[in-house]
Amino acid sequence: MSGIQTILENNRQWVATKNAEDPAYFRRMADGQQPKYLFIGCSDSRVPASGITGTGPGEMFVHRNIANMVVHSDMNMLSVLQYAVEVLGVQDIMVVGHYGCGGVAAAASNKQYGLIDNWLTNIRDVVRLHETEFLRIKNEPERLRRLVELNVIEQVRNLAKTNIIQNAMRSEKPPRLHGLVYDIADGVLKDLQVDNDDVMRDMEHIYATEAHDPEEDPGTPPPSEPAAAGHPNGHAHEPAKKPTKEPVPSSDK
Ligand SMILES: [Zn+2]
Repeated sequence: MSGIQTILENNRQWVATKNAEDPAYFRRMADGQQPKYLFIGCSDSRVPASGITGTGPGEMFVHRNIANMVVHSDMNMLSVLQYAVEVLGVQDIMVVGHYGCGGVAAAASNKQYGLIDNWLTNIRDVVRLHETEFLRIKNEPERLRRLVELNVIEQVRNLAKTNIIQNAMRSEKPPRLHGLVYDIADGVLKDLQVDNDDVMRDMEHIYATEAHDPEEDPGTPPPSEPAAAGHPNGHAHEPAKKPTKEPVPSSDK
């Protein structure tokens, strides 16, 4: 037996085992999910999200990509994050890197690998941010291990830059952000102790945003909309109010 037949046979055995252990198991699963955790990890086959965290079906929402990246133009990651935080209400969000990550090693080299080079550029940005520290580490395996850790920390910071996390942090039950590294060589998951208050404070003066409140500031209609005429859909709009304040003269002399 090989290929997909192995997978299907494994599945049949797993179903039989589960049903023998707990006849209500699949009925409970079908009722819905309330996972407490969001796992953002690497696609590497040696880092199974459930296995290394001891969680079972229904306990953890999972997103995986090459080198566990949080990229702000990645609609897949953003959709997972928004759904996990705003709909499922997960309380712990972990970015999980791993030593021996091929994506991180590729980003640290000068070789081309094709399309994936564009994805790996996000890790090269981490190298640029921490170049002074890297240059001090002469031993290459050690430098790569440190890059794995710093990449995880930067991806946690990238989470904090999203309006999804910023809004969630202002809610009654703010989630906690974690940066973890898994060691393939011994199976141990290490907490990098990323301080959430520090991360959010560091983001404040450049990345912090607030949700627009239409009652406080109605704003101006889009320029293509006729100001006083009826809307094509039949909704009449108030004409845009001109600013009542005079422009503030520049203090530069
Ligand atoms: Zn990896």
